[in-house]
Amino acid sequence: MGEGARPKRRWIKIMLLSLLGLVVVGATGFFTFAPRIVENGQNRIEPAKLPEVSASTQELHDSLEIVDMHSDTLMWDRDILDRSDRGHMDLPRLEDGNVALQVFSSVSKSPKGQNYDSNTDETDNITLLTIAQLQPPRTWRSLLERSLYHASKLRDAAKDSDGTLRLIRTRGDVAKLISDREAGTKVTGALFSVEGLQNLEGDFDNLDKLYDAGMRMAGFTHFFDNEVAGSMHGVEKGGLTDLGRRVLTEMERRGIIVDIAHASHDAVAEMLELATKPVVLSHGGVQATCKVNRNLTDDEIRGVAATGGVVGVGYWDAAVCDLTTKAVVDAIDHVVEVGGIETAALGSDYDGATTVGWDTSHLAAITQELVDRGYDDDQVAAIMGGNTLRVLQATLPE
Ligand SMILES: [Zn+2]
Repeated sequence: MGEGARPKRRWIKIMLLSLLGLVVVGATGFFTFAPRIVENGQNRIEPAKLPEVSASTQELHDSLEIVDMHSDTLMWDRDILDRSDRGHMDLPRLEDGNVALQVFSSVSKSPKGQNYDSNTDETDNITLLTIAQLQPPRTWRSLLERSLYHASKLRDAAKDSDGTLRLIRTRGDVAKLISDREAGTKVTGALFSVEGLQNLEGDFDNLDKLYDAGMRMAGFTHFFDNEVAGSMHGVEKGGLTDLGRRVLTEMERRGIIVDIAHASHDAVAEMLELATKPVVLSHGGVQATCKVNRNLTDDEIRGVAATGGVVGVGYWDAAVCDLTTKAVVDAIDHVVEVGGIETAALGSDYDGATTVGWDTSHLAAITQELVDRGYDDDQVAAIMGGNTLRVLQATLPE
């Protein structure tokens, strides 16, 4: 080795160490700040001017058993037991809003450049999120593992909640939840669902694992066509596959609620045709008040009503075309007009990469809007949760 070799080698060593340092610092920053930055950018609130809640409406609101059929809170890196300044909900805010039962959904895959018109299954944003949030490596690739992980997050939260968050899996659980709340117990129910059965990974037997993990509601598709059905936002937008038909029958047999959210119009028609139990739209809107392809036509509203199911109206702009309680209740009015009072329900899509006008602590504003439209107390109670409780009591396992 010549004289000049040592300084040169030292220089290379310094370069390499600096580079490693940069990677470590960068990664630490990424894992520490990325989840917060990502969620703040995705789950936004543009504060709406809300109707002032009167004392009598607040009293009515506090007496309701409210059910929200859809939130994606499990996707984000925070403890749902803690009050957060991010996103749209957590247990303290559900309590503020007097929510009796929240459905927590698992998103397992979401295409890059996601849009309502056409998406393939070739790309995925959730993979990066699972790594950025330092989730267990088994969730980095497997869609099934992602949903099982979300289910375990919900289970752990319930376990750590001193009884204030309770998992709901059976009709008995629903009855006990309501009777405990009526007796003054501070408890909120949590039901696990999934957004798209791509997490079966094409294997019928995986339904077993998801059922055991607590899944009691399932949307067949999310933003792309999958092994069970065509998506409203997919490329082909086809109907149910053979596997999809088999899965639907097995879901009904087990007591897992069939959710038509995001399914193509062809798939929705088939699901309503095949259904022998109440079917739900967990979150969305209606074409009559907001003409977006994912929203229900009047025929579809009638089809859901005919199964004894409910339509969960969301609060975000693409579901109701405006961030006001008026827009939400306009959609509810239309569901009532076409499907009857027993068909209207709530499905916020909180924390679903949505922009909303208020978080779940302000739900009394919706009650006020319903009261202002002339709904009586029993009708308000039905819309805010009574109808969905009826569906749960008719479909969940004994
Ligand atoms: Zn959705």
